[in-house]
Amino acid sequence: MSTFESLNLSPEILADIRRAGFEAPTPIQAQAIPPALTGGDVIGCAQTGTGKTAAFAIPIIERLAGSAGLRALVLAPTRELALQIQECFDGLGAGRRVTAATVIGGEAMGPQVEALRRRPAVLVATPGRLLDHLERGNVSLGTIRILVLDEADRMLDMGFAPQIERILKHVPLDRQTLCFSATMPPEMERLVRGHLVRPVRVQVGPASRPVDKVSQVLYPLHRDEKTPLLLSLLRGGRGKVLVFTRTKHRADRLARAVGDAGHRVARLHADRSQSERRRALDGFRAGQYRVLVATDIAARGIDVIDISHVINYDLPATPEDYIHRIGRTARAEASGLASSFAAPEEGDQLRAIERHLGQPLRRERARAR
Ligand code: AMP
Repeated sequence: MSTFESLNLSPEILADIRRAGFEAPTPIQAQAIPPALTGGDVIGCAQTGTGKTAAFAIPIIERLAGSAGLRALVLAPTRELALQIQECFDGLGAGRRVTAATVIGGEAMGPQVEALRRRPAVLVATPGRLLDHLERGNVSLGTIRILVLDEADRMLDMGFAPQIERILKHVPLDRQTLCFSATMPPEMERLVRGHLVRPVRVQVGPASRPVDKVSQVLYPLHRDEKTPLLLSLLRGGRGKVLVFTRTKHRADRLARAVGDAGHRVARLHADRSQSERRRALDGFRAGQYRVLVATDIAARGIDVIDISHVINYDLPATPEDYIHRIGRTARAEASGLASSFAAPEEGDQLRAIERHLGQPLRRERARAR
């Protein structure tokens, strides 16, 4: 097993890594940090939960220590993920004095302009808001030396390709590019060919995929049985539960039913304001809410270590979303449980998921007690 000490890192960052509680590099870190430290382009094929954020934050902090001005840009698909990336830089960059700022949609421009004026070394951004700032002249990307595209496949899925292309026109060509993606569909390969130079490809092997630590069960049922079964599972278990629904409306309705049954519950979806979303997530993290009901987009990058159970109240639209959802449990080394409810009308999604997994999910009878 490799150690952080063997990766040629500075004593300052090793101290911050230890303070973060990381004992040994995860596989993606062990593979991506050395080539990234030498300044080469890297493509990391890794899902959230594998430690990919620190896999790019650590080499960026090491390479930028001692330099002044804006030097790195990290593009991320969602506000939640951007905030988590910022937290990672805050934690690991303290000793090396590498600072980061975040610009994301849904929050006031003023404080972000202030943060940009403080000349951070790293800018973490969602594409739309960054373009706003660029167009208003609040920031220049002409000094960027390192670019990260995080969850690049998801950014493409969300239709950010044109914004990314526009942003890249502002970033110097002689830069290092690090690209992380859970999947490598053909559009990703095109993006990579267009913007990376002789990249080193690193991939985490199947044994360390978070999904392998999750035991997965499927409840075939009628759609009217979903809420009674959910309430019964909540009564029967302990620990934090993340519940996914297909729509915002269904998330609202379900959260009401769960609350009416006496559970402490919060909601996370795109119609809620940034501060409501943050309160929901912080409250869930702190244990003030036991249940969080979320939709897929809002749940990107939810990073709560001790979720013991993910429940797919509705099946997700794609197998990739399924993998992402169940990756919210069994974070770090713990194991977790993922239960999926499938009504007959969700047969197509179920077949796609099982094909992707390469095996059928274990069936259980839905018996609400
Ligand atoms: P990520 O894949 O970047 O979302 O990281 C998943 C979680 O793993 C985060 O909560 C990190 O704080 C944590 N983590 C990252 N690297 C390590 C490590 N080397 N050892 C233990 N935990 C880690």
